[in-house]
Amino acid sequence: MHFPFCRGKCSYCALYSRGAVALSERKAYSAKMADALSKLSARGAKFSTVYFGGGSPALCDLNAVLSSLAPCLEIDAEVSVELHPLDVKKPLLDMLRSEGVNRISMGVESLDNATLRDMGRRYSLNEAKDAFFTVREFFDNAGIDLIVGYPRVENAEEWKIEKLADWGMTHCSVYSLQLEEESSLASREGIESFLPGDDEVMDSLKNIGEFLESISLERYEISNWARKGRECRHNSAVWAGEDYLGLGTGAYSRVALRRMRGAWGVDGEGAEEVSVVSEEDDIKERLLFRLRTRKGLDASLCPRWKETLEKFVAEGVLSSAGDIYRLTPRGMEICDYVLAALV
Ligand code: SF4
Repeated sequence: MHFPFCRGKCSYCALYSRGAVALSERKAYSAKMADALSKLSARGAKFSTVYFGGGSPALCDLNAVLSSLAPCLEIDAEVSVELHPLDVKKPLLDMLRSEGVNRISMGVESLDNATLRDMGRRYSLNEAKDAFFTVREFFDNAGIDLIVGYPRVENAEEWKIEKLADWGMTHCSVYSLQLEEESSLASREGIESFLPGDDEVMDSLKNIGEFLESISLERYEISNWARKGRECRHNSAVWAGEDYLGLGTGAYSRVALRRMRGAWGVDGEGAEEVSVVSEEDDIKERLLFRLRTRKGLDASLCPRWKETLEKFVAEGVLSSAGDIYRLTPRGMEICDYVLAALV
């Protein structure tokens, strides 16, 4: 479920979202979401995982949405909510927990205050830490997001990932910054000259990965680490190639061969874009998602890739066990190259 409202636009962000939107519009959006869920419930829809993403979902009336969602949840459903550190307030957390939310993902993004300011995140590292510790009072399944490869900022301190040692997170997503054309960062003059080089980014990722593994978070997807049993079930289902319904303005759905954006119902009601892919492209998409995970890719489903996959095994980029191929640590560093060679 996509909630496209934010406090303001972060410098690096090109996602569909708007800042400073009137409360009345946000309320109307929540009501529309609640209504879509009620209609799905009336049709007997059941979800095993649900993800509230944004934007900042907490800027909407999540109570109303969660009440309509409740009849659609399977027993033991995973319900995740993304929070901005400034969203974190005890009454909100209390409400989320009592309405069935059982997983929180908080965008911290950087461990350096000068960089946080430059990103437009509006909090300091200490405030993010306090917010996360408050989250943990309510949720034992809580993680954070970080971005590496942000351009060098004046007065920025080198990251000390060890600062996270006592945070007690169960999940961490680490993304390499992509300079998105539509972001304000990309329009800054000469910004490319401030970007760290590929080697520096790789070193940061390696350092972060080693630290996360030292605190018992295992890498289960190219950008995601989790404590055993705390892997995000929602994202894992997407990577395993299962269908999903995306509700809301900027959400994407994959229902059999149909791809939709901006749907408000399982039939694609209200969708802004609908396309139908071929069966071959559908299989390809599902397999490539799997290669990014530690489960790996089953080549028996796509025998014509076998030769290329074997070439990557010989280069130390993939490992193989029967028909299952997995990225090695080196392969994870150049995953995009591997994927591009297969399609
Ligand atoms: S990064 Fe998140 S909080 Fe920032 S503008 Fe984009 S969607 Fe909003």
